[in-house]
Amino acid sequence: MVSKEKFGAYVKVQKSGITNMFNIPHVIEAADKIFDVELTKEDCIYIMENYKELVEAFKMKWIKKWNVKSESGNGSYVVSLSDQNTWGCSCPVWKFRRQECKHIKGVKLNPERYEEIRE
Ligand SMILES: [Zn+2]
Repeated sequence: MVSKEKFGAYVKVQKSGITNMFNIPHVIEAADKIFDVELTKEDCIYIMENYKELVEAFKMKWIKKWNVKSESGNGSYVVSLSDQNTWGCSCPVWKFRRQECKHIKGVKLNPERYEEIRE
């Protein structure tokens, strides 16, 4: 089994498109240089052989969601908390810039103030 961190680095290298994923030395180099994660050849082979299972095992799940009205009063955004304690929002600041927006900040600070969405 590889750690989530290692698998994450492998996926990031893959998504970056900078290397052919069958070129393992290059994948290892990229993971180290760009994402500062040390992968071994064995890790890469393990990941290649068990990719689907790893995706399932490490899948991020949103465990909580809140409805946050936009300041303009037109519509609302959905702020989500994942099981890995990361946050997301449906507003453009988060979607396009991946920056913590005022909606996330608001919910973090005071979750009781917002309407929780239960599915
Ligand atoms: Zn937002």
